[in-house]
Amino acid sequence: MKISIIGAGYAGLSSALLLSRHHVNRITVYDRFDRVQTIGAGILIQPSAIEILKRLGLYEQLIDRGEKVYHLEGINHRRRQVFLTSYDDYSPNSFGIGIHRSLLFQSLYDKCKIQSNITFELSREITSLADLQLTNDLVIIASGSHSKLRDQVPIKQTYQPYPYGCLWTTIEDNEISRHRLCQYLRYSQEMFGILPSGLNHNSKRIVSVFWSLPTRLKATYSLENVLERMKYYLDDTHSDFFEKLKRANYSFAVYGDVYMQRYDHENLVFIGDAAHAMSPQLGQGANMALIDSYFLDKSLREHNDDVRIALQMYTHVRRRHLRFYSQASKFLTPLYQSDRQIYGRFRDLLFTISKQIKFSRRMSSEILCGKRISWIRNKEIQY
Ligand SMILES: Cc1cc2nc3c(=O)[nH]c(=O)nc-3n(C[C@H](O)[C@H](O)[C@H](O)COP(=O)(O)OP(=O)(O)OC[C@H]3O[C@@H](n4cnc5c(N)ncnc54)[C@H](O)[C@@H]3O)c2cc1C
Repeated sequence: MKISIIGAGYAGLSSALLLSRHHVNRITVYDRFDRVQTIGAGILIQPSAIEILKRLGLYEQLIDRGEKVYHLEGINHRRRQVFLTSYDDYSPNSFGIGIHRSLLFQSLYDKCKIQSNITFELSREITSLADLQLTNDLVIIASGSHSKLRDQVPIKQTYQPYPYGCLWTTIEDNEISRHRLCQYLRYSQEMFGILPSGLNHNSKRIVSVFWSLPTRLKATYSLENVLERMKYYLDDTHSDFFEKLKRANYSFAVYGDVYMQRYDHENLVFIGDAAHAMSPQLGQGANMALIDSYFLDKSLREHNDDVRIALQMYTHVRRRHLRFYSQASKFLTPLYQSDRQIYGRFRDLLFTISKQIKFSRRMSSEILCGKRISWIRNKEIQY
């Protein structure tokens, strides 16, 4: 099969790698950048995507270079614990892995480069799907959340930018937030996250730091005020860490919400953020991109004589899982990032009560793990 993949992010590279295992496939990956790279902070890889990375032969590297995360802890401005979500409420010995996104990305890229049936065409921005659609058996659109290519297919869709984004940086530090993702919260107005992110290129332990900010303040916020507020949350034992925060360079990340009624059209298929971007609050975006590529490959293998049927099956198989996480993200994000204090108060009350209840602790842990597909029924994705 002749296959074109638009976008060399997690979704594009993992699809290329899986599809290259069938030697009859000839794959071209296009990216608008001249070097395949990813910038940004650390990400949290959930058990749902760890399974895919195992199948891609990347688990050892993930373990070597990442840091196991066992808990997600929320502490409010009164220094009270609002929630503690533990992976072992889902299953004993479960964990997430915090890793710098460029390390995981590089591992995927290195594996793709040694496959003789994958070709990269870099510095190639694809502006029209029509030609590729005619000259390929299959076109995979993995061009990220801001992709304009969605407009070229007759599929009901929406794109909504979020009113909140975040400042982020990465810091070398050996002590802070070991094996836990820590979030400091003041209602839904302030959120200060510290995510262990494994080792950097110099083999030093790093953490990623996130500070939530409304996008309307992107040009006018005062870093001095932000640092003052960060200092408030860190107790005196972390004064060294605070000094590093003062010297760090910060970037601003914005994100949006993408909805598509279906992901396939004829021999085209949308995957990853291009198909279903969501707020990073639940830490699922890269995980979903990896899971998409697995199910796309699986559908194509099961219906190898008919691409269109395979893509329709792909939409069918992915829809429930993706809808569930889009809904969860829409429900949860305003509880963390909103101008309305009441949302944050509601969250603190809800989570303080639910952390006492075994059933809801397990449900939170299942959602975090990335496998759940229903609010009511205790069902998971099956690989
Ligand atoms: C602050 C922040 C924190 C996050 N934390 C987490 C986390 O902890 N866990 C998690 O799972 N996810 C997290 N995410 C989300 C995650 O980063 C994304 O979901 C993931 O990177 C999506 O991968 P993708 O391959 O679909 O798209 P992208 O990584 O956006 O890749 C798209 C690629 O397509 C290329 N491209 C675009 N248009 C074209 C074109 N027309 N022609 C050619 N090439 C094109 C781009 O150059 C890019 O290389 C976070 C996101 C943010 C912003």
